[in-house]
Amino acid sequence: MNTYSNNTKCPKCGCSEIGEGVLEGYAAMRPKGRVFASSSIIADVCSNCGYIIEMRVAKPEKFRKKN
Ligand SMILES: [Zn+2]
Repeated sequence: MNTYSNNTKCPKCGCSEIGEGVLEGYAAMRPKGRVFASSSIIADVCSNCGYIIEMRVAKPEKFRKKN
């Protein structure tokens, strides 16, 4: 499922050392209108200049509309 490429380079500085971070707690994202569902946010971060290349939720299925 993870198609993330190791060849990703930072568009700002060209560094290919991309790390992965997680935003949790107050920074978690939840589907609008739903209180009890939330998901951590995963970010791909350049370890050289700190640029955030990509952000995504850890559990996208929580954002599907039910029924
Ligand atoms: Zn960079």
